[in-house]
Amino acid sequence: MAIYHLPRGTQDFLFERTLRLEYIESVLRDLAESYGYAEIRTPIFEHTEVFLRSVGESSDIVNKEMYTFTSRGERSLTLRPEGTAGVIRAFVEQKEYAQQDYPYKAFYLGPVFRYERPQAGRYRQLHQFGVESIGTRSPYLDAEVILMACHMLNELGIHHYRVKMNSIGDESSLKRYREALQSYFAPAISTLCEDCHRRLDQNALRILDCKLDGDKEIVKNAPKISDFLSDESQQYFSQTLQILNDYQVPYVVDDRLVRGLDYYTDVVFEIEAEDHEGHSFGAICGGGRYDRLVKEFDGPELPAAGFAFGMERLLLLLEKDELLHSIVRELETYVMPLEDKVFQYAFDVMMHLRLQGIQSDMDYGMRSIKAQFKTVDRKRAQYAILIGTSEMEQQSVTVKSNTTKEQKTMPVDELVPYLAEQFATREEEHTHTCDCGHDDHDCCHGEGDCHHHQH
Ligand code: AMP
Repeated sequence: MAIYHLPRGTQDFLFERTLRLEYIESVLRDLAESYGYAEIRTPIFEHTEVFLRSVGESSDIVNKEMYTFTSRGERSLTLRPEGTAGVIRAFVEQKEYAQQDYPYKAFYLGPVFRYERPQAGRYRQLHQFGVESIGTRSPYLDAEVILMACHMLNELGIHHYRVKMNSIGDESSLKRYREALQSYFAPAISTLCEDCHRRLDQNALRILDCKLDGDKEIVKNAPKISDFLSDESQQYFSQTLQILNDYQVPYVVDDRLVRGLDYYTDVVFEIEAEDHEGHSFGAICGGGRYDRLVKEFDGPELPAAGFAFGMERLLLLLEKDELLHSIVRELETYVMPLEDKVFQYAFDVMMHLRLQGIQSDMDYGMRSIKAQFKTVDRKRAQYAILIGTSEMEQQSVTVKSNTTKEQKTMPVDELVPYLAEQFATREEEHTHTCDCGHDDHDCCHGEGDCHHHQH
């Protein structure tokens, strides 16, 4: 079997899609920062115990989906299957709690790995953008996290989504609920799958989101967590929902939503999206509160809440809805040496442009003028800088706009000021032609007249 191809469930992002991903990342990043979050980067692999402790031994992730290996030092290591565990491990290990400026607000972005069955929108290496807000227990903070996720979607131009909300209660509510589920499922366990047999003993909550049995009547008729919530949890949940009402968040309460990771307590949520034709895109974001996790990592008793977006799903959704067509790779100038003997001069012009902060590239192959112009188009170069013998002799250049096709010969010393002026005019035109009311030219996401430019 050939080995020179992608492992199943992974993908290559070539230039254009990487640019699109970067655009999505920048929208999420900027908004997270505007809500007071700062970036943190943790290793892509951790000691396996980090995930056993947090994601939990009863979860599908730990049971079936982790990429675990033994290092040369005989330690069991695991490629991170999600981002929260590493962030909390770092928070405790680096004693970030000592500052006590709560909430401590961190965001992260990077690949996570899950050995799942690949299908549309489901990968084995995926990227998550997540936030964690540590140290505060307040319905306003739960609401803030959800409002921020919605804000991010709106900013990306995604409007067809709904937030599924539930509360799985505090530790004691959860314990009583688990016991009730165990007694409920035990007599009929033979009708459920092998994995559910294990779940019955480990954590009967996991039966509720079993991919095989989830839709069976017995699961649908199972006791509901809402009947087991303590008064405090109930009130906390209502307060959170009230804030979401105030901000017109499109949510529904789904009392079967339990989330697949063991660390959650109280408020949990998932955001489901549809494309513009109404086709479901499944979950694009998941999160909730996890008040026990910092303590689990031997840190102080600090509550926390967060979420994670799946970047690939956001990308697919935005591509499907054609919201990314203005994200294209462009180049400011492309230098075209027209004869062998001018090559050195052309190279110097290109380097001069670059050193003055103007993007530039050139043809190194001495190809025909026609071939070089094709490259100018393919690279979406705004200006071709043509250089022949007369240009070299006069220390000049011929600048041709790829939009208006006008061309002009000028001394090389005038090139940078000329281009700078052209770019400034172009910027201004963009701001004016944009009819969405913003000055920022990347605000329309392809819907208005403005375009998003990547330089
Ligand atoms: P989770 O950590 O399971 O709550 O996942 C958070 C988000 O990551 C989900 O809402 C999805 O958008 C995304 N996600 C989870 N698993 C996958 C996967 N295997 N492939 C692509 N995206 C995923």
